[in-house]
Amino acid sequence: MGQATTTGLGSAPRPAVTSVTDAPPMRLTVMGATGSIGLSTLDLIGRNPGRFTIAALTAHSNVDELAELAIAHRAELAVIGHDSLYGRLVERLAGSGIAVAAGRAGLMEAAARPADCLLAAIVGAAGLEPAYAALGQGKRLALANKECLVSAGAIFMAEAARQGVEILPVDSEHSGAFQALVGARGEDIEQIVLTASGGPFREWPLERIAQATRADALRHPNWSMGAKITVDSATMMNKGLELIEAYHLFDVPADRLGVVVHPQSIVHCLVAYRDGSVIAQLAEPDMRTPIALALSWPRRMTAPTKRLDLAAIGTLTFEPPDETRFPCLRLARAALAAGGTMPAVLNAANEIAVAAFLEGRIGVLDIAATVDTSLEAAVSEGLGGAASCLEDVLLADAAGRRLAAEALGSLRG
Ligand code: NAD
Ligand code: MG
Repeated sequence: MGQATTTGLGSAPRPAVTSVTDAPPMRLTVMGATGSIGLSTLDLIGRNPGRFTIAALTAHSNVDELAELAIAHRAELAVIGHDSLYGRLVERLAGSGIAVAAGRAGLMEAAARPADCLLAAIVGAAGLEPAYAALGQGKRLALANKECLVSAGAIFMAEAARQGVEILPVDSEHSGAFQALVGARGEDIEQIVLTASGGPFREWPLERIAQATRADALRHPNWSMGAKITVDSATMMNKGLELIEAYHLFDVPADRLGVVVHPQSIVHCLVAYRDGSVIAQLAEPDMRTPIALALSWPRRMTAPTKRLDLAAIGTLTFEPPDETRFPCLRLARAALAAGGTMPAVLNAANEIAVAAFLEGRIGVLDIAATVDTSLEAAVSEGLGGAASCLEDVLLADAAGRRLAAEALGSLRG
């Protein structure tokens, strides 16, 4: 008998153990730093000293918090969106050595400042131009702002491809799909199914939803998020926007995109293949998991989230979405089917309607009604045609805002 050869790893030459901590620090810009996603990102950064340097942080109006974050994370540049708050930010950062800018020009300066990765977490279409400008760097874009892709998907993705930008989705469902799609070929994918928690009104009859207050809508069962996306989750417009986002990110036909309601928010996405296999991505609902992936991919970094314990959870349930009580899902699908700039109209009208709801001017069901009326008006005005540049999208966005304001006027009248 010959000498046994040892094939165990014990005797094999081991590759040098490299960890993500060996890599040079990543230069990161966080746009929307004071928001829910921005703060979750900075929480991860704070727990990984030496792994990141901060090129720029931006915020809209929370100048004191922005200044504190900029100092704590030694940012090179801090930008406040509101021009009028420039003086206060200068005052707060005096002597810190941190550069200060404000307004739209300041946001564009932050987007253009050299960085290895820009995390786009401004809420709404306001984040579109800076995120689009950041594509010019040809680096990584960690994309939380779904409204960018809803409004300008085709143009945005084409520009990202032209610039060689790697888009890492931060939206949890899309982060799940991104992982479940590793190695996939387009013709093998039968369906990408996004899960939805169903929001706080999942079990409410229509009559009760009609009476829902701002506080009711902001009481999300599973996720802690900014106000706009929390209301979008309550109306399920969030899932509609996410269908459009997935359409552009993963280049799959709309009829291969599905939604299933999953109240526990543990399974984030399922990818069904033509051999009958389904790959799902699971995690406790905590945005630090998809953010960590977007920052470290193709490696992984530690996220201090609750670990998934399926035996303790016991039951995961799934049900079809109800488009009668949640018509926003249908409206988003209609806008996606119409194509062109119709999704930009949908998104803008929704932003106006959500703002009106948050200000207590309309009821929650009026959000879908406002969007519906705006889309119909856009069709009758001949809007929604193809976009050949970002300017076309911005015009459609402005039209959507105008039509929604008119629709709100007639609702109140
Ligand atoms: P948020 O309201 O908590 O924070 C928004 C951030 O954007 C803040 O820093 C605010 O100062 C800044 N901002 C707001 N309006 C601005 C403007 N006009 N100009 C410049 N800056 C502005 O929002 P969020 O929940 O963190 O969501 C951010 C984005 O990420 C949204 O597009 C949302 O759909 C998406 N997203 C969020 C979550 C989540 O868990 N919060 C999950 C998936 C996707
Ligand atoms: Mg999501």
